[in-house]
Amino acid sequence: MRSKVVAGNWKLNGSLAGNETLLKALLGEVDGKPGVAVCAVCVPAPYLAQVRGLLQGSAIAWGAQDVSRFEQGAYTGEVSGAMLAELGCRYAIVGHSERRTLFGDTDSIAAEKYGAARKAGLTPIFCVGETLDERDRGITEAVLARQMDALLEKGVAGLGGGIVAYEPVWAIGTGRTATSQQAEEAHAFIRGRVAAKDGNIAAALPILYGGSVKAGNAAELFAMPDVDGGLVGGASLVATDFAAIWRAARGSPS
Ligand code: PEP
Repeated sequence: MRSKVVAGNWKLNGSLAGNETLLKALLGEVDGKPGVAVCAVCVPAPYLAQVRGLLQGSAIAWGAQDVSRFEQGAYTGEVSGAMLAELGCRYAIVGHSERRTLFGDTDSIAAEKYGAARKAGLTPIFCVGETLDERDRGITEAVLARQMDALLEKGVAGLGGGIVAYEPVWAIGTGRTATSQQAEEAHAFIRGRVAAKDGNIAAALPILYGGSVKAGNAAELFAMPDVDGGLVGGASLVATDFAAIWRAARGSPS
């Protein structure tokens, strides 16, 4: 049985005062009963030390929104996996569509970042997903295959211990959510792609859905057999909304 994960992606949002208010409210909502869904927040790197101070010892985990593919050296502006691990991160998002579109992260760079995160002991959350144009052209599965194969080419054993997030680009921050059927089809395809290489790793791999997840649609999405939780952008900035999404995940183990 895979346990559910609900991870918030704060993106480029936050302030010292605002983070404290948000996390204190979230701490009041999320309890740590064993065997229930994981709740995590992926925050801007400068706030990781603050977040560690507020969340250490609590039921809420934390992570980063990106990680360098390099370990150390002359890479101005980069943050390594080891640095994130030192700050107590459990997760690092890699290959988010905003990084792919705006910052030049290719399939292969995203896969390298996945490997760098694993090497540092982090759980990477590897984002894949098609654009609206790609869906309309009927090439969703081809796009997912290409993105997943970049990772699988690096060796399926290295995939263990990570997470995949299916995030249709047309649903991110748009208020337009994939139907639970669309999400399930994509998740089953991704799991099948991994299963073709290693059935055990595929069966254990959490696959999260991301794209305008809200308190009102989370339960239906998370009830699908291959949907193991969510990667949540906008709604993760409101404690009561994010907690409601986490509770929806807790209610439906896959
Ligand atoms: C995201 O940023 O990964 C995301 C899914 O955003 P939103 O929930 O706002 O669509």
